[in-house]
Amino acid sequence: MNVSDILKKAIIINKKKSKKLHTRTKFKKIGIMGGTFNPIHYGHLATAEAVRNRYDLDQIIFMPSGNPPHKSKAEIIDKEHRYNMTMIATMSNIYFETSDIEIKREGMTYTIDTLCELKKIHKNSQIFFITGADALCDIDSWKYLDKNFELATFVGATRPGIESNEVNQKIDQLKQKYRANILNIYVPSLDISSTDLRERIKKTESIKYLLPENVEKYIYKNNLYR
Ligand code: NAP
Repeated sequence: MNVSDILKKAIIINKKKSKKLHTRTKFKKIGIMGGTFNPIHYGHLATAEAVRNRYDLDQIIFMPSGNPPHKSKAEIIDKEHRYNMTMIATMSNIYFETSDIEIKREGMTYTIDTLCELKKIHKNSQIFFITGADALCDIDSWKYLDKNFELATFVGATRPGIESNEVNQKIDQLKQKYRANILNIYVPSLDISSTDLRERIKKTESIKYLLPENVEKYIYKNNLYR
């Protein structure tokens, strides 16, 4: 299948999954997988599946960030491409959906706005916000941090190489200061990183088996990260 057909198929499947999710009121536990996904890789997918499995979540919504407040535009590729790649990557898992809430938002995207929007849709649900543990270590600067912790349980995914003492200390501190609900999960396969993938592409090194084949095709077809 060529890349534009793969994308068309991913859009149709994502629409169907999203419709189902929004019409079912029974969902109790929803994971939000927040990140830049620049690009998405198997580490992200394995993390989402591990969290879903461990905490018995009904659904994981991948949420590519739109215009992150802490990043310059030069650092990240166009949000449409990151959204398309995420949709393609999540296509084959019935529990995974990709949301365009953040990429459609004008101006900076803050997690608090996303959580408020999702709480309106999923009134009776418990929300788990999943992201990299290193992102959690920098969380003090987030907008309305206390409100973020009121609206969601946070899950920090730790990869090999991240100092777990530092992460645990930070989590303890946040729990005390904000009475935050924060979980920590160690994911060995998260050793794959978007930074490493971008460097490999630039150096024309292989990225095979580190991310879904269809995402790899999308990257080459659109000449990304060169
Ligand atoms: P990032 O730069 O994409 O990632 C930071 C680190 O965490 C990287 O090592 C990354 O690995 C890893 N990571 C990112 N998303 C992950 C996920 N879902 N699961 C596991 N590991 C993940 O992330 P970020 O830009 O700091 O943002 C993370 C989330 O926090 C986003 O949803 C963002 O919108 C939110 N955020 C909100 C505010 C705010 O509201 N003020 C401020 C900052 C961030 P890879 O490079 O391999 O992806």
